Amino acid sequence: MSFDKFRYECAVFGIFGHPEAANMTYLGLYALQHRGQESSGIAASDNEAIRLTRAMGHVADVFNSDNLAALTGPIAIGHNRYSTAGESRIANAQPFVIDCAHGQFAICHNGNLVNASELKESLVQQGSIFQSSTDTEVVLHLYARSKKSTVEDAIVDAVSQVQGAFSFVMMTRDRLVAVRDPHGFRPLALGKLDDAYVVCSETCAMDLIGATYVRDVEPGEILIISSEGLRSIRPFPPAHLSQCVFEHVYFSRPDSVVFGKSVNEVRTNLGRILAREQGVPADVIVPVPDSGVCAAVGFSDESKIPLRMGLIRNHYVGRTFIQPQSAIRHFGVKVKLNPVKSILDGKRVVLVDDSLVRGTTSRKIVKMVRAAGAKEVHVRISCPPTISPCFYGVDTPRRSELIAAVKTLDDIKEFLDADSLGYLSLEGLMSAVGSDSSSYCSSCYTGQYPVSFPRDEATYLQLALKLDNKGEAAATTAK
Ligand code: SF4
Repeated sequence: MSFDKFRYECAVFGIFGHPEAANMTYLGLYALQHRGQESSGIAASDNEAIRLTRAMGHVADVFNSDNLAALTGPIAIGHNRYSTAGESRIANAQPFVIDCAHGQFAICHNGNLVNASELKESLVQQGSIFQSSTDTEVVLHLYARSKKSTVEDAIVDAVSQVQGAFSFVMMTRDRLVAVRDPHGFRPLALGKLDDAYVVCSETCAMDLIGATYVRDVEPGEILIISSEGLRSIRPFPPAHLSQCVFEHVYFSRPDSVVFGKSVNEVRTNLGRILAREQGVPADVIVPVPDSGVCAAVGFSDESKIPLRMGLIRNHYVGRTFIQPQSAIRHFGVKVKLNPVKSILDGKRVVLVDDSLVRGTTSRKIVKMVRAAGAKEVHVRISCPPTISPCFYGVDTPRRSELIAAVKTLDDIKEFLDADSLGYLSLEGLMSAVGSDSSSYCSSCYTGQYPVSFPRDEATYLQLALKLDNKGEAAATTAK
């Protein structure tokens, strides 16, 4: 059972110069499990050969002491996957490892390449044979076919041909390479663990292994880490920054620093601003756990209305459970959440959550809170209405399934059966992320896309398009 949220994307991790590189990568992936739960993999190099273990499932299911012990060497990269491009199957699990004219090479990717299908078509016509249905494999083919004479030049050649969102962690037999796209859509942080270098999607992975956050890999930067140290190159032309604001709203763990800012601080601020914009007389603030907790703390701080955990989450729900044959109403939600009657009974409740996608789960939660005796239920969402799908590495429903894209505010309130409904404004969201708000992507709230995408994709996403003469959509509005 999944809650009605945008799905996570992927996690990447890499380490250079550590005697237990594979074990550190395992722990890093463990801390980053929230970003992808379909498959997990680690590739490690002992400077002679790259070895790989990958399988479907969670990190703790995929790895054991035997398969980790086989991943010897001081360099390793790892990946947790949630499929945003390509199906969920082992052939799509990363890292991908190849052997080509430039030697052995491994890659992990977080993001989505918007021109992957065109590149793939052209590569197939030239004779390439693809083994997966992911966009990431395109980069391997571009790298393997590159006529450049050095490994680094071949990497630059390959990544310069792809467009969209990419945080790559790559490995050859003797070096680690980290690449962040020039728009900076997805996060990628650099840290140190004694003499070893670490790169990863979120800093919570560094915390677990005792590494220190140094800085972000900057948008448009390629870091090459070898026995000669760390080198930075910037081969991409300058581009408008578009860091994913939804990382702060929902995706990243609150104990991470993302895009140089504490996620917890930003998320709590979202709640404070929401309380100023959408305050309502009430007796208690109740977060939808766990996603709404930080914003609810901020809402409570600002409104001076007490925060209570009126909904308790069962953290031990497995991926599968046996559903009874007799129909239990709203069984799926009840398995995960249970209301606390003593907190809710007779109260005017503000229910705080971080996002509303289809609205189906929120509707069940409102019903559950009412059934526990709440006198009034006011729903507050700590981001603006989500009206457009994402192209940049996040799994989103089609536009027609996004409740805010197809219903008015009043209609949504009726659908949820809430006494009132309030969203954070776009200005409020941007002021919470700080003064550099123009450096963020907010396409899912605005329908304005910073990187153009092919016509077929636009049709799939049901966007109203303004096509340029190449048949590509320039920045478009979905409204
Ligand atoms: S469209 Fe939304 S989810 Fe996708 S990158 Fe932009 S802000 Fe993030």
